[in-house]
Amino acid sequence: MTATTPLLELRQVVKEHPTGPDRPPLRILHGIDLMIAPGELVAIVGPSGSGKSTLLALLGTLDRPTRGELFFDGHDLAALGEPELAALRGHRIGFVFQQFYLLPGLTTVDNVATGLLYTGAGRSHRRALAAQALREVGLGHRLGHRPAQLSGGEQQRVAIARALTGAPALLLADEPTGALDSASGTTVIELLRQLHHTGTTVIVITHDRELAASFPRRIGIQDGRIAFDERDDAPGKGGAS
Ligand code: ADP
Ligand code: MG
Repeated sequence: MTATTPLLELRQVVKEHPTGPDRPPLRILHGIDLMIAPGELVAIVGPSGSGKSTLLALLGTLDRPTRGELFFDGHDLAALGEPELAALRGHRIGFVFQQFYLLPGLTTVDNVATGLLYTGAGRSHRRALAAQALREVGLGHRLGHRPAQLSGGEQQRVAIARALTGAPALLLADEPTGALDSASGTTVIELLRQLHHTGTTVIVITHDRELAASFPRRIGIQDGRIAFDERDDAPGKGGAS
């Protein structure tokens, strides 16, 4: 794909949920048009219940639009079946959520290594890559710990290590600092910025206005619609001005 192909393109994307046999569906997203260029760093903001997580799930192929079109790197996602979407997610997309979703029975290194299962790499190779990712997030000394033995900030760094092991093109984070104290939150955001500097497209849902203001692009969601889409005029940040 050329550099001008958007990483993500949404055309009139609608998301509805059924409410019952004789009732109209509940419309959550009302026809979203959006383009995200490769290498962008984007904050998504908006009131609780406005549809931010619903939108992120669509961007991450975790869910499908009810109507409208969604392209990932030029590929129409409607044309892909579940196994192909799963492969796309495994190879190209990393996720970080407010609740870290670590497996409690696994060590730190194995939690991260599970993120590499799709690669088909052997267990010891996966563990070596996982240990490397954990060193990159400053947790090289916690490889054998279980999630319950870690602080919230450390658990989120494990989740980030898991998300970045595959060197994803796209990192999606849904309120990644929402459950953290401010010092841990700062560390987590710093890691996401580093990932962005290596070329990964990073999209973060956040309630933190100061954090959002520090991002080069800010998209506001209100009642399932894009209320604003602001971009700093920084050359090389991608997209036409
Ligand atoms: P946000 O992340 O901005 O807080 P969400 O995207 O989680 O908002 O939710 C937007 C709206 O969609 C909310 O009113 C929520 O209750 C509703 N919603 C989310 N998921 C479902 C679902 N599976 N079925 C019905 N309604 C849902
Ligand atoms: Mg949400």
